[in-house]
Amino acid sequence: MARIADLLAAARTFSFEFSPPRTDEAQLSLGRTIAELEPLGPSFVSVTYGAGGSTRTRTQQVVTWIRKETAITPMAHLTCQSHGRAEIADLLDAYHAAGIENILALGGDPPRDPADAKPSDYTYATDLIDDLDSRGHFSVGVAAHPEVHPRSPDRATDRAHLAGKLRRADFAITQFFFEVEHYLRLVDELAALDVHKPVIPGIMPVTNLGQVQRMATLSGAAVPQFVVDALTAAGDDPETQRRAGVELATELCAQLLAEGAPGLHFYTLNKSTATREIYANLGLPIGG
Ligand code: FAD
Repeated sequence: MARIADLLAAARTFSFEFSPPRTDEAQLSLGRTIAELEPLGPSFVSVTYGAGGSTRTRTQQVVTWIRKETAITPMAHLTCQSHGRAEIADLLDAYHAAGIENILALGGDPPRDPADAKPSDYTYATDLIDDLDSRGHFSVGVAAHPEVHPRSPDRATDRAHLAGKLRRADFAITQFFFEVEHYLRLVDELAALDVHKPVIPGIMPVTNLGQVQRMATLSGAAVPQFVVDALTAAGDDPETQRRAGVELATELCAQLLAEGAPGLHFYTLNKSTATREIYANLGLPIGG
């Protein structure tokens, strides 16, 4: 297994993101997806963490399963919502004991209904980094929002907080975006703040326009008109829509690689087809 900081120092990384399954059937389906993607030889895979709490144990189970049962390096996401320090300490102890070396430290989103909010010892991703730093054995990643985090009052404040966070982490992974300029501007703005850590672009192949529009609204990303037009032109046939989304994502990935991005992180939505097709289109080396 490996620390992602070391992987990035050695070569460009290609990674996949999964969500913890909510049902036994979804768990079987995720197992199939991982089996289909493993032959591509990903540098690492990551598993999201439900800010609300419902799937948290499953994140730990899936990450630990990947560590034990596959040859892939896993990374666990961790958020600030409704956590006490003792609880986080237990979770980090369990991850360390299971040989998990990589954590993505995240703010997380407060519940939609403020009445559902539970007290937490953590507010910002940097609060989690305090705990991770004190242990010293995890490689730590953070989130970056190329189009600015929706809760940031302005661009300069967003970049100042991101720069401060990334100085203390090993790398960042971005929220998805559809135009290479957003990524390049982010990297330039960090460089202007003297932060040069790897920023891995997050890639979302749009295979369902409505679903991505909802996710974009929540994450502060814009779905540009050319994406809407390409998917709309594909009509109602899910297969034609998927092909259009794969074509758009392939083009974006090619631009990012040409611009020297240190890796690509694919939001798989627990499916393998789009990611495998983009891999093939880009001629990426199968097997790592
Ligand atoms: P933070 O870095 O804490 O920042 C949140 C906001 O607070 C920003 O506006 C920032 O500018 C501001 N801020 C930071 N520090 C300070 C400070 N000291 N004072 C004032 N303001 C400050 N969500 C999940 O629930 N589970 C997941 O698994 C998950 N995975 C993700 C993976 C990636 C790659 C990305 C990009 C996002 C992911 N998210 C996930 C979503 C993420 O949790 C949300 O976008 C969340 O709202 C912000 O997370 P953050 O880590 O950027 O937060």
